[in-house]
Amino acid sequence: MRQYELVERVTRYNPAADEGLLNKAYVYAMQKHGAQIRANGDPYFSHPLEVAAILTDLKLDDATIAVALLHDTIEDTDATRSEIDAMFGEDIGRLVEGLTKIKKLDLVSKKAAQAENLRKLLLAISADIRVLLVKLADRLHNMRTLHFMPPEKRGRIAEETLEIYAPLAGRMGMQDMREELEEIAFRVVNPEALETIVRRLAELALRHKDLISDIETDLGRRFAERGINARVIGRRKRPYSIFRKMERKAVSFEQLSDIFGFRVVVDSLEDCYAALGVIHTTWPTVPGRFKDYISTPKQNDYRSIHTTVIGPQHQRVELQIRTEAMHRVAEFGIAAHALYKDGIAPQKGMPVERPPGASLTGFSAEVKAYEWLRRTIQMLADGDTPEEFLEHTKLELFQDQVFCFTPKGRLIALPRGATPIDFAYAVHTNVGDTTVGVRINGRTMALSTELQNGDEVEIIRAEGHVPQAAWENLVRTGKARSSIRRATRVAVRKQYAGLGRLLVERAFRKAELAFDDALLKAALPRLAQSDLDDMLAGVGRGEIPPGNVVKAVYPDYRDPSPASANPSPSQSAQARRSRAKKANAGIAPVPIRGIEGNLAVHYAPDGGAVPGDRIIGIITPGEGVTIYPIQSPSLKNFDEFPDRWLDVRWEVDQDSDQRFPARISITVLNEPGTLAQVTQVIAAADSNISNLRIRQMPDDFSELVIDIEVANLKHLTRVIAGIRALPAVSSASRVYG
Ligand code: MN
Repeated sequence: MRQYELVERVTRYNPAADEGLLNKAYVYAMQKHGAQIRANGDPYFSHPLEVAAILTDLKLDDATIAVALLHDTIEDTDATRSEIDAMFGEDIGRLVEGLTKIKKLDLVSKKAAQAENLRKLLLAISADIRVLLVKLADRLHNMRTLHFMPPEKRGRIAEETLEIYAPLAGRMGMQDMREELEEIAFRVVNPEALETIVRRLAELALRHKDLISDIETDLGRRFAERGINARVIGRRKRPYSIFRKMERKAVSFEQLSDIFGFRVVVDSLEDCYAALGVIHTTWPTVPGRFKDYISTPKQNDYRSIHTTVIGPQHQRVELQIRTEAMHRVAEFGIAAHALYKDGIAPQKGMPVERPPGASLTGFSAEVKAYEWLRRTIQMLADGDTPEEFLEHTKLELFQDQVFCFTPKGRLIALPRGATPIDFAYAVHTNVGDTTVGVRINGRTMALSTELQNGDEVEIIRAEGHVPQAAWENLVRTGKARSSIRRATRVAVRKQYAGLGRLLVERAFRKAELAFDDALLKAALPRLAQSDLDDMLAGVGRGEIPPGNVVKAVYPDYRDPSPASANPSPSQSAQARRSRAKKANAGIAPVPIRGIEGNLAVHYAPDGGAVPGDRIIGIITPGEGVTIYPIQSPSLKNFDEFPDRWLDVRWEVDQDSDQRFPARISITVLNEPGTLAQVTQVIAAADSNISNLRIRQMPDDFSELVIDIEVANLKHLTRVIAGIRALPAVSSASRVYG
């Protein structure tokens, strides 16, 4: 391409472009690169020129085109930043320098270095989005000419493209760029897989020979009948996106059915929905595949309606419906808006549509794409280690997102698979820390619920509440994970200290000796401790026997006869319960909020406990509290340790769908199908089986011991009644372990 051709290309879409700047950059770069040649023998200058040409396809401003021409001069010639500043202004100098820095980063080296480099890359591109646009065009041209590179270099460049640049292009909404980068890189990284997929695609094309043109014609006719002006563009999925889907979903090519995709481009927002109506009344839809990204746009401003139908040849067909303006954004992403950066008005025929609720969420494409960058960079500033940052970035960069709203309409973007806990932490760390429940679209749901696009999420909070350690397994975002880690460390220590204080109080009461914090503090050196809470936490964890604390305060104290009395084995549950009450006199009951207690809560291992049961908690230092129904025979094992008995009660949310363990024993006649009948009754009563054992008995009977999960005692009673009603069942009852 010649100098005048480049300038002409730019002035065609931007008549106000600074031709002098473009000419000067062209001449300067050409002279600087001089006689340098590329791996394919072309003059080196052909490369920056092609990069500039790619950017004119994206209709970028004159400064960006100039930067593209100059992008390799500092790195590869004797040009300097100050010289470029002097000739082209500081703005362009800064951009060229940014690109020079990125070029030196190795993004596929070992983990720590990679993270550090990724951090630098994001910092460089966050300063000005044009750095990223030029870098992507640079990478695209290098990929197009990759076959001229020595084979040993190709792998690394292709890998880096697949891992970093293609997802970045996608993140910025530049789908065409992303696909081309991926296809070329895929050919280098995994030629065998590419070959297999291409062969299969060819077979498929043969089998469904006219599918694409049939659908294009058919839809075109139906749209015309309804007065909808539409372009229908059919295509097969690209090999790399097929490969990724096969990998991600672990399915074979045969199982992949939606290989055919269509884009329906219409004139107006209303026509999008009208076209959708035509499609849905023509072919049966595939449930769960409908997505309205028009009412809820993606983070990168992508807007379209997606749906999948069973097409005329019984093949799954995916359709994307959008307007011309949306189509342009879908293809060029952030670059579709970059032209307006310098205050140039949008051209006619490119109306800027706003989705409903736009004002609520402060909709703006650039703002949104930048917001992702800003958030990522905020992470990087907060993160302790580069590895941790990489974890964040991988999550953020390589996963799809879901968009949810606060009740006030604030948009919260989260990675796919995120839960209400992620949402709460994304709103604010304090909100996350004090979360106790959630309402999604007005309904109370479990905190483990996977959020969906468009969900309205209302976090229910309780001040003073602390997150559970187990939440770490429920979250997807790095922010939530690190906040939970921090909060639970503090909370666990506090809990153990509280438990320790309880045990110390009891030890003093048993010894009939007085104590207060001052006495305890004075005794700390004798326990080789320096902090009161640390000492109490040590007692709570079972590391320091409470008796030792008494002895540390009163060195002359002698424990009279520790745990020597043998309780009568025939003690009734009632007696035990009153004894438990006595042992707990004056101490507030510990509330058991289902599993929400911050101290680890377990249920009686051989029989469980369910809401509605009268219960006793047994403290096991270092482990937590185990909840037993008052009827459990196991409780007598703890008769000698009244210090470990806790008076507890249920405090379960009525709306909670939490389940609790219980064991039932069933005697059944050995008949075919009996076991199936029993399990069906359990399933039909909305209960789960977590374990099942069968014991043969004499006389054609078997005993089934089944561990099930139920909501409460009423539920359990209903399940048992249902089982008893079966003709083959001779008896069914609950087992208290
Ligand atoms: Mn270059």
